[in-house]
Amino acid sequence: MIKIGRYEIHRIEEVVVREHKSLFADWDEARVEPIKDWFVGDYYDTADDSFATSIHTWLVKGPDLTILIDTGSGNTKDRPLSPRFAGLDTPYLERLKAAGVAPEDVDYVLLTHLHIDHVGWNTVLSDGKWVPTFPNATYVMTRTDREAKDPLIGAKEKPAGAVLPFVDSVKPLLEQATVKLVEGDEQNFLPGIDFIKTPGHAVGQMAIRLRDEGEEALFIADVMHQPIQVYNPEWSSKFCEDGVLARETRKSILSYAAENGCLILPAHFGGTHCGYIEKTAEGYAYRPSDVMP
Ligand SMILES: [Zn+2]
Repeated sequence: MIKIGRYEIHRIEEVVVREHKSLFADWDEARVEPIKDWFVGDYYDTADDSFATSIHTWLVKGPDLTILIDTGSGNTKDRPLSPRFAGLDTPYLERLKAAGVAPEDVDYVLLTHLHIDHVGWNTVLSDGKWVPTFPNATYVMTRTDREAKDPLIGAKEKPAGAVLPFVDSVKPLLEQATVKLVEGDEQNFLPGIDFIKTPGHAVGQMAIRLRDEGEEALFIADVMHQPIQVYNPEWSSKFCEDGVLARETRKSILSYAAENGCLILPAHFGGTHCGYIEKTAEGYAYRPSDVMP
């Protein structure tokens, strides 16, 4: 657990998957050398050229509010196009419980974007029907992503398998839960919590900033998938919807994080899963947090 002011931040792990280096079309093995002391092992395995990709969500417990940032991949989902997220059976809710939170305790679910590995625990299967997992929560998502992923609006051309995460994990919320659509740049949406537009990886992606008692944390979602991107901000991943825009967003978040010294909490980093950005003569460096969230 990490504290930011009066808020507790807990990482709730779902699964850790291996991701081949082909994640980055611009991959250059030589770029590993300068950071290999800490990068190889905790983040990257040279035996099979793969990254550790953690799928986790962030639990933020404030004095009066319990907030979940993103909801992982979910259990028992039908994912014909993404076998690694298909039919999962993880003790995610038990892990949430171990952090002191039952599903009914969650006040807000803030969804940075609506990709497969960020929306899954929005719903669980009950009597053959997908129902909201967190019955008392207000679910927050950007209007842009909500429309872009809807097979009746922006995703008409997508194959049926590709829109399943929307169909089984977002649409049931629109029908059965309290949903708030946002623009993704709201200030003080909740006390101390702002949204920052971070388009590119997903067209409607937003980062979430938490500030309390002079401390600051920035949940950057998938602005970066792996810490090697701190050193190579021009590398967008094969999962980025708009790689050029993702690159611009990455550079601006790196600059902001270095200037403000805030703790950044990405959605998929391995190691200690969060850290700090430092400006260097060549660009930026990553300093992993000493403390595990
Ligand atoms: Zn992701």
